[in-house]
Amino acid sequence: MTASPSHLKGLDYSIVQQCMHCGLCLPTCPTYNATKVERHSPRGRISLMRAVADGRLDATRTFAEEMYFCLGCLACVTACPAGVNYAELFEHARAEAEASGVLKSPKRNFIRGFALRWLFMDLSHLRLAGRVLRLYQQLGLQTLLRRSGLLRLLPKRLQELEAITPDIQPKFSAELIPPVTPAVGAKRYRVAMLIGCAQDLIFSNINRDTVEVLARNGCEVITPPKQFCCGSLHAHNGEWELAQQLARNQLEQFPPDQFDAIISNAGGCGSHLKHYRKLLADDPAYRDRAALWDKKVKDIHEWLVEIGIQRPAHHAPAQVVTYHESCHLAHGQKITVQPRQMLGLIPNLKLVELPESSWCCGSAGIYNLVQPEMANQLLDRKLKHIKSTGASIVANGNPGCLLQLINGAKQQGLNLRVVHPVTLLAEAYRR
Ligand code: SF4
Ligand code: SF4
Repeated sequence: MTASPSHLKGLDYSIVQQCMHCGLCLPTCPTYNATKVERHSPRGRISLMRAVADGRLDATRTFAEEMYFCLGCLACVTACPAGVNYAELFEHARAEAEASGVLKSPKRNFIRGFALRWLFMDLSHLRLAGRVLRLYQQLGLQTLLRRSGLLRLLPKRLQELEAITPDIQPKFSAELIPPVTPAVGAKRYRVAMLIGCAQDLIFSNINRDTVEVLARNGCEVITPPKQFCCGSLHAHNGEWELAQQLARNQLEQFPPDQFDAIISNAGGCGSHLKHYRKLLADDPAYRDRAALWDKKVKDIHEWLVEIGIQRPAHHAPAQVVTYHESCHLAHGQKITVQPRQMLGLIPNLKLVELPESSWCCGSAGIYNLVQPEMANQLLDRKLKHIKSTGASIVANGNPGCLLQLINGAKQQGLNLRVVHPVTLLAEAYRR
C-alpha cells in the first residue's frame, strides 16, 4: 500500500469488489439515515470508489466531497455480513481525492499545510500553540473577548469555531507523568504509554490517570516526554506518506520487542495504531517490526481486562453513569464489553445503558469542524439519548468524543460530567 497517484486503482482488487450490495449496512449509517440518499450510504460510496478504481469515473469534486461527507465512523463495518474492509477503502478514497487535487484552494491548502504538515508532524509545534492558547485563556482574554461582544464582528463560522475552542490543561502530560513510573507492588509487566497529540494538551489529566491505573495493576510504565502523533489524522485526511513517516517514528521510539504492551487510551488513535503493518507493507526496513507492533498495541480497557483489573477497595459515593462508545473503539477495534466491565468493578457505580450507544456523536476526528451541520445533528441526537438515561455522568474513551460532548453539554446548559472510564477507576483507587 504505497502512496500512488491513484490509490484506489493501486488497492488490492479483492477489497474493492467485496461489496455484494445487500444494503444491510444502510440503517446503521448516520449520513444515510439523515438524508436517505444512496450516494450518502456505505453501498453508494463503495460503488463510487469501485467506479474510480475501474477507471469508469474520474475522482471529481463531487466524488471528493462525498468522501469527506462520510464520517469514517465504521458502523457499516460492524453491520456488513460480507466483511467489507470499508476502513481501508475509505482511507484510499480520501487519498485519491487529495491526489486528484479537485478540492485544492489557497485557503484549504494553507489550513492543511499548517495543521497536517506543521502542527501535527512535530508535537513541539502543537505544544507551542497550546501554550499560547493557555495564556490567552488564563489571562482572561478569552472571557473578556466573549463578554465584550467583539467576537460578533467575526464571520459566523469563525464565531462557531471560537465557541468550541477547548480549555487547555494547566499542565501537559510531561509535567504530570515521569518518564518511568514504577509498578505499585510487584512488577508484572513493562508497558509504553502513548500520550497522544491533542489529548496531551486538552486531557493530560486522563493520561496521568491512565498511568496511575496501569501502575496500580502491576505495570511499569514508560512515558517519554516527547512523543509523536500516531498519524491517524493524516491517514484519514488523505496524507498517506505523512502517516507512514509518523508510523516509522513510533516504531523507532517504541521498539515493540521491548514492551509487553503499547497502551493507547484514545479509541480513534488505537484503531489506527493497530494497522501499521498494512501502512508499511511495502517497506522492508519496517514491516516486520510493524507486524509485532500491531500485536502489542492495546487499548487501555482491553489491556486491563486482559491482565485482570484490581477491584477498588473502598466504597464511593453513589454515581449513575452512562457509556457512550467511541466509533473507532467499538467498530474499529471491536472493544465494547471491556469498558463496561471496567466500570462495573467500581463500587457504588450504577451503569445505565445508553440507547444507540455506538451511534456517532458527530466528532469523527475533525468532522465537527468541517461538516458542522451534520455533526450538530448527531450531537443533538446523542445528547437527547444521554438525557433520557437520567445519568449525571457520561463515560467515553476517546478525546474527540469527550470534547464534542463537553461542548454540547455546555451549549445546552446541562449539568453533565463527561469523563474517561479510566478516570473513574483512578478516582476509585484514590479513595
Ligand atoms: S463510515 Fe459511517 S458515515 Fe461512512 S459510510 Fe460507513 S456508516 Fe456511513
Ligand atoms: S458494505 Fe456490506 S452490508 Fe453494505 S451493501 Fe456492501 S456487502 Fe452489504
